[in-house]
Amino acid sequence: MNLHEYQSKEILSKYGVAIQRGFVANNVDEAVAAAEKLTAETGAQAWVVKAQIHAGGRGKGGGVKFSPNMDKLKENAQNIIGMQLVTPQTSAEGKKVHSVLVAEDVYYPGESETKEFYVSILLDRAEGKNTIVYSTEGGMDIEHVAEVTPHLIHKEIIDPALGLQGFQARKIAFNLGLEGNAFKEFTKFIASLYNAYTGIDASLFEINPVLKTSDNKIIAVDAKVTLDGNALFRHKDLEALRDTREEDPMDVEAGEAGLNFVKLDGNVACMVNGAGLAMATMDIIKLSGGSPANFLDVGGTADAQRVQTAFGIILRDPNVKAILINIFGGIVRCDRVAQGVVDAYRAMGSLPVPLIVRLQGTNAVEAKKLIDDSGLPVHSAITLEEAANKVKEVLA
Ligand code: GDP
Ligand code: MN
Repeated sequence: MNLHEYQSKEILSKYGVAIQRGFVANNVDEAVAAAEKLTAETGAQAWVVKAQIHAGGRGKGGGVKFSPNMDKLKENAQNIIGMQLVTPQTSAEGKKVHSVLVAEDVYYPGESETKEFYVSILLDRAEGKNTIVYSTEGGMDIEHVAEVTPHLIHKEIIDPALGLQGFQARKIAFNLGLEGNAFKEFTKFIASLYNAYTGIDASLFEINPVLKTSDNKIIAVDAKVTLDGNALFRHKDLEALRDTREEDPMDVEAGEAGLNFVKLDGNVACMVNGAGLAMATMDIIKLSGGSPANFLDVGGTADAQRVQTAFGIILRDPNVKAILINIFGGIVRCDRVAQGVVDAYRAMGSLPVPLIVRLQGTNAVEAKKLIDDSGLPVHSAITLEEAANKVKEVLA
């Protein structure tokens, strides 16, 4: 689950990570109030208005605007709230901006130069350990840095049992070229950041840029947080931060129905019980000349209600030309599933695309008979090969 920048920063702040301060605003009046409050609290003389969407590269797309005075702030908030923001990380249509973060300007001139760094924390699956990735080349597209100057990207692997050690924090600060107060501030910053990462069971933190201000403070100017969905049950408060407007409606509906669903861009939809069988089914669809429109694991109970919900989600996709149901009846009996499919089909009246049903396992023969006798235009199969051939037939 992804969070907005303003939500991420609030969490970081609770863990003692220094951040660029700001308040979220849903309209121009709220933006003005936010700016006034910031000035009262921090003495900020200028602000930055930042579009809150679940995608990076907002600056490049015109979603982050420096506002040196109140008139500019109003104008920027007016333009950004409600805009359809296209960035290198969104689709061509972009994403609608519902709110902005009004933040204090932290790029003010001072005794030393302002510097932007890149810091992320993520799980390195090959190592089985958390990893801090960092670079002096912050503020820009890290993929570009990785391509052109890979030697400027460093990694520090953290043993989860030991946590981030003091010497590691100092090594990172040293490699970033920091000294004096900024060095000390950075070691505190990275320690709190790592604590936050483990504390909320995140799977990704990306802070780009981490800023060294002209008066040698270290703060998070941007914050991207991804939470580990499997650990969300431990964080009911964080679960409430979910913004479903940022997610694909098909994914949201599937999630609510308890279906394990991933949309793909092919033409054959599939409905399967078990993730492994779902993967194998996608292979079979490919072999039969089609291409999977989704991954869908309906789980152990493929009753009429679930099948009908799944049909509804699958059929929202205009690319779907056929549906393949592939269920292995181990604990669940095939005839029960078949009855569920027949009931769901009848409840829907008709389906706009051919349906192929392959049921194997307990009572598979009874299940096939039940479907064949239903009088519905359903292609039934017992072996996977038969099912694949039927898919080929209906696509031809
Ligand atoms: P992103 O484009 O989605 O990654 O959004 P960021 O939060 O990283 O902001 C993009 C850029 O806006 C930063 O790299 C900065 O150059 C600029 N920016 C952010 N905050 C400030 C600020 O307080 N003052 C000024 N002048 N620029 C800022
Ligand atoms: Mn950024």
